[in-house]
Amino acid sequence: MKIAVTGGKGGTGKSMVATSLAVEFAKNKKTVLLDVDVECPNDHLLLSVKKKEFVKIYQPIPKWNFNKCNKCGKCASVCKQNAIVFVKGKYPAFVKDICIGCKACIVACPYGAISETKKEIGTIYTGKNYNVDLISGELKLGELASGEVVAEVRKNSESIVKKLKSEIILIDSAAGIGCPVIASLVGTDYIIAVTEPTPSALHDLKRVLYLANHFQIKHGIVINKYDLAKEFYREIEKFAQKSNTPVIGKIPYKKDFVDATIKMKPVVEINPNYQKIFKQIINQINLSIK
Ligand code: SF4
Ligand code: SF4
Repeated sequence: MKIAVTGGKGGTGKSMVATSLAVEFAKNKKTVLLDVDVECPNDHLLLSVKKKEFVKIYQPIPKWNFNKCNKCGKCASVCKQNAIVFVKGKYPAFVKDICIGCKACIVACPYGAISETKKEIGTIYTGKNYNVDLISGELKLGELASGEVVAEVRKNSESIVKKLKSEIILIDSAAGIGCPVIASLVGTDYIIAVTEPTPSALHDLKRVLYLANHFQIKHGIVINKYDLAKEFYREIEKFAQKSNTPVIGKIPYKKDFVDATIKMKPVVEINPNYQKIFKQIINQINLSIK
């Protein structure tokens, strides 16, 4: 079973929910947690996992042979990223950091002056703690290809999942609705949308649920810090009712959650009373995808 944990807005507690659920799941089933919030992965911190490098991720990029180049400028004209700067009469200049490796310039060059090489765009790490196997993707600083890194983490995780015979694959996605989030959600059985009782979180929740509906993936809402703004919490409940989306969990705003982050432990370890919240979320998911 593949479950994605996402949330339109950043900072809603998505990673806390993903790691706590992973720990609860892992008590009964072999569980892998994929941290694909590749720009800021931090599940290893929340679970005190000592991560080790599994594999580097590379992307194809073009390489020029100026002996063959006749300065026609065609490569620059086909580059949608504007990664090739062309000034008439000069050789094209390449801005490596913004190249997305589409290879259009290689195909377009009429003189065969461009060949393919590669650049490092990220790293996949693995580790284990609390019986949870963690696979974590990290985008290299300054790189743009976060969607590609997410896709590579998911691809590489398949062999690990097979080897470990994992039954539960939890995917902690990035916030938002962009390419890396879509790459995290596609092919999952259930989406947990984590939100909080604020107008901006509700606005972004609607956008992420639009994606869930678009991909026809079953989904439910978890409201974090629900008791922080009870009136707006009721707004979210109203929205959930109106859109026929189940609220599968609500989490109070308590100091234990801050302590858990500081101590780098899952909150269910800090205070076992929270186990019932995450067990209830698991039950709701199981009921929904039966
Ligand atoms: S398309 Fe080929 S020949 Fe033309 S400027 Fe680019 S590299 Fe040179
Ligand atoms: S590979 Fe694509 S993005 Fe990169 S320089 Fe060539 S055309 Fe531009």
